[in-house]
Amino acid sequence: MMKEIPSGKTRRNPPGSSTGAPDPSRREFLRRSVLIAGGLAFVSCNDLVAPVVNSPGRLPGYRDPKKVVIIGAGIAGLVAGFELSRAGHHVTILEARPRIGGRVLTLREPFTDGHLAEAGAARIPSNHHLTIAYAEYFDLELVPFYSRGGLYVKYSGGIRSFIPASSYLNSPPWPGSVNRGEYTKIRGGTDRLPRAFADSLANTIHLSTPVESVAQNLFGVTVRTAGGTVYAADRVLCTVPLTVLNRIQFTPALSPLKMQAAGGGYNYAPSTRVFMQFSTRFWEMENLNGWGNTDWPEEIWQPTWDREGPRGVLMSYLRYDRAREIDPLTEERRIESVLTRWGNVFPGVRDHLDSGASYSWFLDPWSAGAWADPTPAQDAALRTEIGRAEGRIHFAGEHDSLYHGWMQGALVSGLRGAVEIHHADGGVG
Ligand SMILES: Cc1cc2nc3c(=O)[nH]c(=O)nc-3n(C[C@H](O)[C@H](O)[C@H](O)COP(=O)(O)OP(=O)(O)OC[C@H]3O[C@@H](n4cnc5c(N)ncnc54)[C@H](O)[C@@H]3O)c2cc1C
Repeated sequence: MMKEIPSGKTRRNPPGSSTGAPDPSRREFLRRSVLIAGGLAFVSCNDLVAPVVNSPGRLPGYRDPKKVVIIGAGIAGLVAGFELSRAGHHVTILEARPRIGGRVLTLREPFTDGHLAEAGAARIPSNHHLTIAYAEYFDLELVPFYSRGGLYVKYSGGIRSFIPASSYLNSPPWPGSVNRGEYTKIRGGTDRLPRAFADSLANTIHLSTPVESVAQNLFGVTVRTAGGTVYAADRVLCTVPLTVLNRIQFTPALSPLKMQAAGGGYNYAPSTRVFMQFSTRFWEMENLNGWGNTDWPEEIWQPTWDREGPRGVLMSYLRYDRAREIDPLTEERRIESVLTRWGNVFPGVRDHLDSGASYSWFLDPWSAGAWADPTPAQDAALRTEIGRAEGRIHFAGEHDSLYHGWMQGALVSGLRGAVEIHHADGGVG
């Protein structure tokens, strides 16, 4: 059931909706978002993609309701569950962790003053239309991600230099991306997006329920959880990262290529973030905004730049070798390691430390990596295979998209999985 629309507010139609005033530009960007997703070659644009875009929050056309079990309550599983439920299917979502969101994780502790920081998804580029469309549908406010004022600091080759906000915002964070000034974030935390999906799926999500095995035959699928509960389904959508796919036993076994991908044949990037809250925003004494880059390399963010209060949070965003280097350390040593380096970036940083925290996605047992990062050879060999349905079992997730490492990829892929299931044979009967 959809939430009630709060009085005085108008709810936008969901992405893929046609009730209310048609919006051709939105339709077009949604259509493009879905069309450019990888692994869609088997999807007929007219038959499947366009109707998704045009129907009012439902998948196209009437289909017999199916019993669908979705493995994983990350963005891919939630968007699929949301759209399938609205189309009348009977959805059950099984999630291993005691929370929803997967790699969307907003940390509110150990911070004070209502501060928060993102361990996972944080920024939304202006060309991620599907992410923006769902955020808008749920009335989530999108606000600038990067600081608009002050100086950005750069520390490279032992030299500290400063970049005015105007120059920094008018350049992309990496080649090919939109400029930093075009990035937004969800006010109040990225986890408001998965929570919005979950609000409309309330009783269908089972937390702390890892799936251990999935068996299918011609007539249906049975899904067994670690607690021993067995769920019968017409179709299953498996959205777990490839790094943890082999924690589930499939009968019959998955294809050799999927097993190869799950067995380490499809690389994932490691990433770890270290957060520190400071009693004062001491960096402002130098007109710094708390953001910057170093040649460690790392990105430094100040997620509290747009919040009131004396205290502020800084975050070190480490990837690849830097993440591998810091992961084996205790949390205290991770913080110490970043502080040592930051002594050159923000002189006097130690004097103001309140508390710290860190998060490693590689060490998280339900991710074992931050995002799919295949070599060109792995991508060429396995891209179409990792999202290919096997009998009654369908697959989706960030890894099965052209947007590795983005919520947009999980949304595109989750929608593709939902469309497949909606059009597949095998109703409840
Ligand atoms: C450090 C980092 C930074 C990022 N930055 C951004 C950003 O700025 N902007 C952006 O748009 N995106 C960003 N992303 C990417 C984005 O978070 C992901 O692409 C997206 O959330 C992936 O969603 P998913 O549903 O495909 O996978 P997941 O979120 O991993 O969901 C899969 C779910 O399956 C569950 N699961 C696993 N195994 C089982 C099992 N056996 N049984 C039951 N459940 C199971 C997991 O617990 C998880 O909840 C970032 C990610 C990371 C890690």
